[in-house]
Amino acid sequence: VMNISNARKAFGGNEVLKDISLEVKRGEVVAIIGPSGGGKSTLLRCATLLETLDGGSLLFGDLAVATDAGSGAVYAKGDVPRQARSRFGLVFQNYNLFPHYTVMKNITDAPIRVLKRPREQAEARAHELIAQMGLVGNENKVPCELSGGQQQRVSIARALVLDPEILFFDEPTSALDPELTAEVLRVIKDLAAQNMTMVIVTHAMQFARDVADRVVFMDGGRIVEEGPAEQVIDHPREQRTREFLSRIE
Ligand code: ATP
Ligand code: MG
Repeated sequence: VMNISNARKAFGGNEVLKDISLEVKRGEVVAIIGPSGGGKSTLLRCATLLETLDGGSLLFGDLAVATDAGSGAVYAKGDVPRQARSRFGLVFQNYNLFPHYTVMKNITDAPIRVLKRPREQAEARAHELIAQMGLVGNENKVPCELSGGQQQRVSIARALVLDPEILFFDEPTSALDPELTAEVLRVIKDLAAQNMTMVIVTHAMQFARDVADRVVFMDGGRIVEEGPAEQVIDHPREQRTREFLSRIE
């Protein structure tokens, strides 16, 4: 579904991504863990075209967004970035909902305005997602009338309504209380059970262990270790992974 190879990214002289390669297959759930400043968000921002790579390649399926020309990454022009954007969804830590739109309008705005879907069709799909996210009864509320966990579930519905092939999450629960975190993690686990392809940056190790098929430990702009959750979290091979896990648990 997504393939990023030999990715490099620097801000000024600060090399944040140093030769990162990550392939995500259909139905796979990948958790990215690691210390602050390790480059996790930068990797997601490059994968979702919010930042450009300095070097390396980025593919969504057969769609080449950036190719490695040796001297640097060359981005495709024309319709390719828009097509690529239609293949993924992104959920941030702080929801990014439109504050003056209702829940329904937050979810249906893009399908109606951008994809030109008929309103009835968009709303029918939104009702399904609102039910799936446990938000029935909140359709006409605005974000400030909802808890953080509910707002985060609206933002997940808003991403899903566009039928992405892959969903990226950057610390989806780090702004939430433990109780609200559990609601959001439950929704993400349900999506995993439905074979949604997901890449999740998280500090919640128990959750990563439960939900991820594969765990990637990033530190200092490199992938230090990756493998099944039981290996990376319970029996890490690398000293740096062990140090990180012992500090947070
Ligand atoms: P955290 O766990 O704290 O979210 P992270 O692994 O997501 O950390 P990044 O946000 O990717 O780390 O940051 C990696 C490095 O890149 C940091 O040193 C950060 O200061 C730097 N950085 C990130 N974005 C920018 C930017 N837009 N301009 C300059 N430096 C940046
Ligand atoms: Mg981050």
